[in-house]
Amino acid sequence: MTCSLCNSINYKSRPGSVRDNKKLKIFECCECGLVFLSESTHINENFYEESNMHKNFDFSKWRKETFEDDTRRFSFLKNSLLNKKVLDFGSGNGGFLKLAKEVCKEVTGVELEKAVTPFYIEDKINIKNNLDNINSKFDIITSFHVIEHIKEPLEILEKLKLLLEDEGKLIIEVPNANDALLTIYKSEPFSHFTYWSCHLYLYTSHTLNLLAKKTGLKVEFIKHIQRYPLSNHLYWLSKGKPAGHVKWGNFLDSEELSKAYENQLASLQATDTIIACFIKEDK
Ligand SMILES: [Zn+2]
Repeated sequence: MTCSLCNSINYKSRPGSVRDNKKLKIFECCECGLVFLSESTHINENFYEESNMHKNFDFSKWRKETFEDDTRRFSFLKNSLLNKKVLDFGSGNGGFLKLAKEVCKEVTGVELEKAVTPFYIEDKINIKNNLDNINSKFDIITSFHVIEHIKEPLEILEKLKLLLEDEGKLIIEVPNANDALLTIYKSEPFSHFTYWSCHLYLYTSHTLNLLAKKTGLKVEFIKHIQRYPLSNHLYWLSKGKPAGHVKWGNFLDSEELSKAYENQLASLQATDTIIACFIKEDK
């Protein structure tokens, strides 16, 4: 097996297991640090269209679940979205686009999951089921927690690049392969919880840089973001279980503490989430 980013043949196993498929192994490239699963054959073309992720989903519950992330992304990007033509690739329940629509010139979602279509129509958001039937270009293309699911990320990024205006920005959010719970605290229970068979690749700021370069894109910025607060981490270390922010957050977390903790983890590149902005190299 060779690394799909740097072609190295040297890789090592990462401790832990894939929570929903114990047959899979987790590997890390010794050269570039790309984290990948031993197999990707369990994800076929129809996987996401067949609603595997959201069987019998309750749409309003789903919107509520993503509201905090949708709002965070919108406030972070708000200024760059003003009066722009925006495409969100893998737009899920459309929560981000619903917020963005208020300040953008035009918004379009691309979502394989066909069951969401009526909700987009209700919210008056353009929806496509596929990248291939889009003919116009966009000022901003976003993709939140999607690229890690994709078997051929270079192919998809090349398609997105073609849909980008010359001065456009491609904004990608992914989970960080170097999450502090794995790389600093080395929480064993977390290493059996966080890996998921749908996440075929896990990236770092370094491997996102390589990905951009291979696609002929340039990194404008990479920002480290911490979605889970200190209470969540302490709970993992103490109890070995998730949801510590729900149990302990009310007496442990404060805005100042969360901000300071995020900054500290960001300086170590060990946050749980990364946002990258790619721009065209050859305008
Ligand atoms: Zn590599």
